Amino acid sequence: MKNYITQVIKEQSLSSLERLVNIPSYITQAESEEGGFPFGEGIDRVLKETLQLCKELGMDTYYDPKGYYGYADYGEGKETVGILCHLDVVPEGDTAKWHTSPFVATELDGVMYGRGTQDDKGPTIAVLYAFKALVDAGETFNRKLRFVFGTDEESLWRGMDRYKQYEEIPDMGFVPDGAFPLTYAEKGLLQFKLTGPGSDKVKLNCPGAPNVVPAAADYQGVEKKSLAEAFSQKGIQYKLTDEQITVYGKSVHASTAFKGVNAINLLATQLAVFQPHPAISFLAEKVGEEANGFSIFGKISDEISGQLTFNVASLRIDENHAEIMIDMRIPVSFSSTELVKQLKEVAADYGLEYQKYDELPSLYVPKDSLLVKTLMDIYKDKTGDHQEPMTSGGATYARSMPNMVAFGAHFPGSPSLAHQENEGIILEELYKAMDIYAEAIYQLCCK
Ligand SMILES: [Zn+2]
Repeated sequence: MKNYITQVIKEQSLSSLERLVNIPSYITQAESEEGGFPFGEGIDRVLKETLQLCKELGMDTYYDPKGYYGYADYGEGKETVGILCHLDVVPEGDTAKWHTSPFVATELDGVMYGRGTQDDKGPTIAVLYAFKALVDAGETFNRKLRFVFGTDEESLWRGMDRYKQYEEIPDMGFVPDGAFPLTYAEKGLLQFKLTGPGSDKVKLNCPGAPNVVPAAADYQGVEKKSLAEAFSQKGIQYKLTDEQITVYGKSVHASTAFKGVNAINLLATQLAVFQPHPAISFLAEKVGEEANGFSIFGKISDEISGQLTFNVASLRIDENHAEIMIDMRIPVSFSSTELVKQLKEVAADYGLEYQKYDELPSLYVPKDSLLVKTLMDIYKDKTGDHQEPMTSGGATYARSMPNMVAFGAHFPGSPSLAHQENEGIILEELYKAMDIYAEAIYQLCCK
C-alpha cells in the first residue's frame, strides 16, 4: 500500500484545520422554521466555510438552503461511497481550565489544540486531505465520492434526518467519528419519559442529562434520618443536613451504565418505604440497582453487542406531575417495538405513561462483509495493530444509513479529549489517520 500523504498535504491540512476550529460552532439556538439558521450562526458559518474548502479542493458542493446540511461530491460512477462528518462541536466547558483559547487553533509541541480538533473537525480534515492527496497523485475515481456534513450531531441529528429526506443515500461508506480500528455494531438507542400523577406529599427534583448515570440525588422531605440509617447500613455514601439528604453514586456514560452506580435508583429503593408514590415504587420494584432492565424485560443480550443497558437519568415529582427520564441501549438483534410494548404494560401497572424522547436505530454491518474486511485490512497493514473490530453502545452517524461503519480517527491508547477542556489532536496521529483514509478512499472509489 502506498503512502499518499506528502509534506505539502500535511501543511495545507493544518491551515484548513485552523479555519474550521476557529469558528465556534456549537448550537446556540433551538431549531426554528422561521428562516435564519436552524442551530445558530456559528454552525452555519462552519458549514459554509467547509463547503468553500471543498470547492477549493476541486469538489462540487451543495448547501441545503435551510442550513441543515451540506455535501461535496467528486467523481462519477454507478455507486456512491459516502463519508459522513459533523461540523458542530460542544461548548468549550470551563474556560479557566484551557491552556489555550478553545476557538483559536494552537499548535504546541506537535499537538493542535482547540475545540473540535478530535471531535470531529480534525478527522473531517483528515478525510478531506486524504481525498486531496489521491487527486494530487492523479488517481481516477470510478465510484462517486460524497462527503456529507451534518450540523447537530451533538444534539438531535436533525441535519442528518433532513439529508435523508431529500438526498441520495450512499451505497456504503464510513464515519470518521469513532475509534480505530473500526466499529461494526452499535446498540439501538431509545430515550423516553415515564410520566405520572403529581403529589402533595413528596417533592423530588433530581435533574440530569439522559446519557449520564446520575452521581447524586437529593431529597428534602420527611424521614431523612431513617433514610440516612438505611444508607449507612447498606454502606451507601450520603450527606445529611437539616434541609436535605444527598445520596452519592458513581457517574459514567449511559452506554456503560453497568459500570456506574445510579444515585437516583439508590434513593428510590430506600425512599419507597416511606413515600410510596407510583414513580418511586416503580423504580424500587422494577429497576432497583439493575442497569440492564432485567426486572422489566428479562435477560436482553446477544453475542454481537452484549446486554441491554438501562439508565434512570432524572426524576422529578411536583404537585402536578411526575417524570422519569430513561436512556436505554438495545442490543442489535432486538427490536425496540417489542421492548416498548413490554415496558408500557409494566409502567401502566404503576399509572405511568410512556413518552418517546429520542430514538436511533442500531448499526450492524457483519464482520465478514467486504466493507469491514477492506477497512480492517488497511488498518492492520498501516499500523501493524491486529486488534479486532469493535461493538459499542455509543452512537455515531454510521447508524443513520445502512452499510456504514465508524472508522477512526481516535487511535487506541491515545488520550481521548473529545468534549473536554484542552481538546487536542497529536499531529502525527492526524497524518497517520490521513494515510489510512487515503488508502480507504482509494480502495473504495478508485479500484
Ligand atoms: Zn463526534
